[in-house]
Amino acid sequence: MGSASNKAQPGPPLWLLAELTYRCPLQCPYCSNPLDFANTDQELDTEAWINVLRQAREMGAAQLGFSGGEPLVRPDMPELIAEARGLGYYTNLITSGIGLTETKVEQFREAGLDHIQVSFQASDPELNNAVAGSRKAFEKKLAMTRAVREAGYPMVLNFVIHRHNIHQMDDIIRLCEELGADYVELATCQYYGWAFKNREGLMPSKAQLDTAEDRVQAHRRRLHEAGSAMKLIFVTPDYYEERPKACMNGWGSIFLTVAPDGTALPCHSARMLPIEFPNVRNQSLKSIWYDSPGFNHYRGDAWMPEPCRSCDEKDKDFGGCRCQAYLLTGNADNADPICSKSDHHDRVLAARRAADHATASLADLTYRNARNSRVIAKA
Ligand code: SF4
Ligand code: SF4
Repeated sequence: MGSASNKAQPGPPLWLLAELTYRCPLQCPYCSNPLDFANTDQELDTEAWINVLRQAREMGAAQLGFSGGEPLVRPDMPELIAEARGLGYYTNLITSGIGLTETKVEQFREAGLDHIQVSFQASDPELNNAVAGSRKAFEKKLAMTRAVREAGYPMVLNFVIHRHNIHQMDDIIRLCEELGADYVELATCQYYGWAFKNREGLMPSKAQLDTAEDRVQAHRRRLHEAGSAMKLIFVTPDYYEERPKACMNGWGSIFLTVAPDGTALPCHSARMLPIEFPNVRNQSLKSIWYDSPGFNHYRGDAWMPEPCRSCDEKDKDFGGCRCQAYLLTGNADNADPICSKSDHHDRVLAARRAADHATASLADLTYRNARNSRVIAKA
């Protein structure tokens, strides 16, 4: 049984996630952006982002993700990529593919971008475009995926899986083969942000999940036998686990997110917590990471209540996800209710039962757009 320890001085942030913007032409009802994204302040300008990249690199950050929203709406991507390359980051662009052009892919390659991940909503245009809330999304994604491959990048595709596309596993994997994918992330939806709001309409049943996992296993065997190098990564949803994940490898341990308005966060969902987070506009990244109350809030384990405090697994999962604890119990200090030892685990069990009988159609979901965001923020 471990005892509560105080915060040790953390190591440096190794991963920097630069959420360049909350703007996005798509409207995915599972988007992890904050529900009130439309009310956030102005985006950092190019100079401010370059300053963030320099400070984080000086502190030791080596991996840099450009995400959003859709980072491609920013015209300064080539400049940011070139700066990141000059600083020595390994860079990854996480994009829906909308707004990408052959010219941009080429510009990014010349600027030194290492990696591009393109996300899809489904294996066919009808469902893809309905989920994305955009009539031409699928065709554009296909074209841009090919352009990314032609530019010599490894083909990394991401599909967010939920109850409306989980039956498509065979078709999704076939599409990925046709596109020549190297890595395919089949990431079942995790319930934060818009996905939490739409959880009842998105969460697959256990039976659906089991079938999907079986299909992925069967395809893995087939691909292996055929000598294909395509890798299928299936990410199971927390809600069907009995222990939580080691969220972000520990709060303020290696991950640093900077939101479009400059708010610095230990993870991209954390801004919904009732904690004041610092902003890169008025504080150095170093003092944010090492000294700010926001980043120190859940470091170490002295903050943990029972059952985590006296649990012999707390060094493994750090009590799970603070955002999930907050969303499901109203108190972010609580054990993540995914854990079967949590007093609130019944809420997860209730969500699983509800998923067995859910009837919501795509039309019943709340789509992620500025209008809905403003309505939610006002309520
Ligand atoms: S999840 Fe969808 S709506 Fe959200 S940022 Fe990504 S593409 Fe845009
Ligand atoms: S009680 Fe807390 S520390 Fe123990 S396994 Fe559950 S979430 Fe992890």
